[in-house]
Amino acid sequence: MTAPTYSPREMIAKLVSFDTVSDKSNLPLIDFVEDYLKVHGLNPTRVYNEDRTKSNLYATVGPNREGGVVLSGHTDVVPTAHQTWSHDPFDMVEKDGRLYGRGTCDMKGFVAMCLAMVPEFANADLRVPIHLALSYDEEVGCTGCVGMVEAMANGAIAKPRAVLVGEPTDMKLVVAHKGVNSFHTTVTGREAHSSQPHRGANANIAAGKLVAYIARMAEEAAARAPADSPFEPPQTSFQVGLLHGGNAANIIPGHCEIGWEFRTIPSDDANALQAQFEAYAANEVLPALRATAPEADIVTEKLCGVIPLAPEQGDAAQAEALVRELTGQNQSGVVSYGTEGGVFQAHGFSTVVVGPGSIDQAHQPDEYLEVEQLDACIAFLRKLRDWASQPTA
Ligand SMILES: [Zn+2]
Repeated sequence: MTAPTYSPREMIAKLVSFDTVSDKSNLPLIDFVEDYLKVHGLNPTRVYNEDRTKSNLYATVGPNREGGVVLSGHTDVVPTAHQTWSHDPFDMVEKDGRLYGRGTCDMKGFVAMCLAMVPEFANADLRVPIHLALSYDEEVGCTGCVGMVEAMANGAIAKPRAVLVGEPTDMKLVVAHKGVNSFHTTVTGREAHSSQPHRGANANIAAGKLVAYIARMAEEAAARAPADSPFEPPQTSFQVGLLHGGNAANIIPGHCEIGWEFRTIPSDDANALQAQFEAYAANEVLPALRATAPEADIVTEKLCGVIPLAPEQGDAAQAEALVRELTGQNQSGVVSYGTEGGVFQAHGFSTVVVGPGSIDQAHQPDEYLEVEQLDACIAFLRKLRDWASQPTA
């Protein structure tokens, strides 16, 4: 029996057909990919989440030697509920030079093209390996890939020269992005009649102090931003997006919620910033609440923490050099969204982002990938195949 092959279009349609919205299991997709890779002679490895409802999958094509390339993509997609689609988002439609469907752009398109290329990679007599690394839970904070990246860094694969994260960049070379950290802070005070503030603890006033402090942290971040920061804006940015407390003007509010975030440049430490905020809350705001209400509290929960991707310098910038060599691009850019690239880089891998499609279409209703971007990505993967089979690779 000959092993089944898929054209890139067929493979994109196949992957899109699995509903892998982040709150669902991705195992049906992983089962399919694992079987496909096995019939092509590969030996894929799963790295599960704790309750074994989702899994990463990595596999090596070619000899497991140092100096290869990791192609990284996530298998989960953002929800389609509350969006109006012209057709079933999990049934890919090709129309007017575009492939429509959830994940065509972000980022099953890239994953599918890598998979469709596996037979070509396998037949190319590679000198250095091409590793595939598929993750889950990227869209909910890049948390799923961590176990797999740790395994890779701990020797599950021979150390690669480069990690290429195929998030949509229109196939342009991207060398940096900010980190994303979002929080939910709950202030608990005590309700009382508005005429008797000494019997209550005003959660809204406490929250106001915290919001003012976030604004101060934003000013401090702006003042310390490096002059050569490639980002727009150049500093770690802060924002308060949700503020909700109280029931009426004549009731002292006992409860207030703050939804806030900051987006770090690589030189700022997200944990230190969170600790700075929490120290202010505990030392400067909470005592006033507890003076009248011992049960008062301020609790900050971290919802998401995406690690920034820093531009690499000099000889360390192996991934950047490789993509420049393969594409002839001499420009490199930064993007405003987070990726799993920061996790790979934090584990010692030289990492860039380069992938098909535009971020403008990601997460949108009627998400699509331009066929022209599919062709560009396949041409890029063929250059990578040729590079990896050269005696000098
Ligand atoms: Zn993505």
